[in-house]
Amino acid sequence: MNKIEHIGIAVANLAEAEARYEMLLNTKAYKREEVLSENVITSFLMIGETKIELIAATSPESTIAKYIEKKGEGMHHIAYAVEDIHQEVKRMIEQGFQPISKEPKKGADNKWVYFFHPKSANGVLVELCQEIA
Ligand code: ZN
Repeated sequence: MNKIEHIGIAVANLAEAEARYEMLLNTKAYKREEVLSENVITSFLMIGETKIELIAATSPESTIAKYIEKKGEGMHHIAYAVEDIHQEVKRMIEQGFQPISKEPKKGADNKWVYFFHPKSANGVLVELCQEIA
């Protein structure tokens, strides 16, 4: 684990959340990206070395839509940057963390991503991400 790469926040309305977080962080969102496989659209803001990823559903089938329906908007996950995602996944599974993903897959922002269940990390969904070389 190298650092916190980003914090993911589930939002109902991307444009509104983007405007609010631009005010909060006093910086412009620098990228919007749709992740078709997850039925989400994301928007990124940079704060120091860490990013804030705003995530909105593009379909009622999206896990983000279900999350908001159940829990409302809010912090969805913490993403940790790793150098070797396969090795970190193996290490964490060996230590008893409960995987959600089967294999690392392509997420937003040119990353391989892999998720661990919030139950195994005191209620916070864990994302590992590795820059796609
Ligand atoms: Zn993320």
